[in-house]
Amino acid sequence: MADIKGTTVIARSLKRQGIDVVFGVVGFPVMDLAEELQREGLRFYGFRNEQAASYAAGAAGYLTGRPGTCVTVSGPGMIHGIAGLSNAWANCWPMMLLGGANDTYQNERGGFQEAPQIEAARPFVKLATRPDSVARVPEYLEKATRTALYGRPGAVYVDLPNDIISGTADEATIAWSPRSPDAPKSLADPAAIDRALAALRSAQRPLVVVGKGAAYARAEVEVRRFVEATRLPFLASPMGKGVLPDDHALSVAPARSLALAEADVVFLVGARLNWILHFGLPPRFAKDVRIVQLDVAAEEIGTNVPTEAALVGDAGAILGQMNAALAAEPWQFARDSEWWTKLGASIAQNQRQVEAMMNDDGVPMGYYRVMREIREAMPRDAFLCSEGANTMDIGRGVLPNFAPRLRLDAGSFGTMGVGLAFAIAAATLNPGRKVVCLEGDSAFGFSGMEVETACRYKLPITFIVVNNNGITGGLDELTNPPLPHVYTPNARYEKVIEAFGGKGWFVTTPEALKSALKAALASDVPTLVNVMIDPKAGRKPQKFEWLTKK
Ligand code: ADP
Repeated sequence: MADIKGTTVIARSLKRQGIDVVFGVVGFPVMDLAEELQREGLRFYGFRNEQAASYAAGAAGYLTGRPGTCVTVSGPGMIHGIAGLSNAWANCWPMMLLGGANDTYQNERGGFQEAPQIEAARPFVKLATRPDSVARVPEYLEKATRTALYGRPGAVYVDLPNDIISGTADEATIAWSPRSPDAPKSLADPAAIDRALAALRSAQRPLVVVGKGAAYARAEVEVRRFVEATRLPFLASPMGKGVLPDDHALSVAPARSLALAEADVVFLVGARLNWILHFGLPPRFAKDVRIVQLDVAAEEIGTNVPTEAALVGDAGAILGQMNAALAAEPWQFARDSEWWTKLGASIAQNQRQVEAMMNDDGVPMGYYRVMREIREAMPRDAFLCSEGANTMDIGRGVLPNFAPRLRLDAGSFGTMGVGLAFAIAAATLNPGRKVVCLEGDSAFGFSGMEVETACRYKLPITFIVVNNNGITGGLDELTNPPLPHVYTPNARYEKVIEAFGGKGWFVTTPEALKSALKAALASDVPTLVNVMIDPKAGRKPQKFEWLTKK
């Protein structure tokens, strides 16, 4: 049989593993590989920095349920790609980084961009490996895919030396591996299902917390069935938002602090008791809170707070078990309970407070006024990618999500620089859908050059930069030397996108913002609305600091 190129074997193997879209930056030794991916019918999106390309791959893994894939050059390029590996690791997203590497015969000679790439990837991945021949590439890529998907989803790294990429093999020697099936969906121990339902039934102040594990599991139908059958109050984590719509009658999102602080039984559905949920500890949670925990990762059970009922397995499958048990023996939490009355009062009070800030027409605008215009302009099924401290946090509270997996943000790792990459990933995977990328001005700067990527691929993303002149708020003028958190005042970020054929607006008033958003969302080219706000604008007063101490 004829020889087959290493690049062809890599491309066909990825395709067999259900990977159709690859993000990356080309150069030595992956230039030919990217071209071969295109020839073999995969879509390759070339970024301006591997950091953003690798973030896009992580988001693609979350959105598609197959490993999001990123290709980098050797050495520095691969090192930049570790940014995405770590973000996928922290968020439990399936992702594959393919790092180009120097020819193996040059190892330890000081080869061009030679680096300990496998070792560098290792802390963040479930598998770090290097094929030993072109013929075995399919086997390695199948194992990498399977490892990223099975158990707790996560990142994997495959090192691709130049002699593999540019090598050849007799086609007869290639053992094409089959597509790794999606992860098996395991059920929980039936005794644990009984314990979980008994715990919820015994609660005076129950609460369901829906995390992005439920979103990743595509468990929305079962989650809805469960919550509506039991009529339990629920909260979503930042990316769990949308598994059930934010305007659902059983959502207690506006009473989040109260609900967490006073619940006596909390049912975690694919959400960890990490910093985002204040470790499940006082003062943010009750001292003796009882935890029912559903997670695909057995080792997550009991983290920070002992678990009363451990439901280990797939969120959709396990909620299916719970729904079957409830169908056999129906039970509902009383809507006229003291708990619902208390939650209802807190929801109403918080909504009044927030609406007042959203209706403040003063100029310069504050965050809430900006969010009101965005809330009114955004289509219900738009993706919302968001980052920046206040911009993301305030937007999370007041910009509703109505369907699962439409919200992507700085996530478990609190990573800044992900927004543009996530928006590009969402747009490439969902042609025709509106993608809004809501950024603080400092967050925008981390990956700002990727607006060129959006323009080049004609992705009509609406970028919104909420500009307060710096990190957590700058100044009207620069001092000498500039203070560390202050960036160029009134910076014209919209001009960056205009350089590449996009459209930009610089706005300072609610009326100008309204008309810019309308035009931007209707545009068929990428757009950027640069909104100046009061550099001193902040959040509504909070009872607790955002970061739990001790
Ligand atoms: P959030 O930030 O939304 O609270 P986390 O990232 O902290 O979410 O937690 C998500 C959890 O979901 C992880 O512990 C992960 O192991 C778990 N998970 C991932 N996939 C599934 C699944 N299919 N079923 C159940 N749990 C899952």
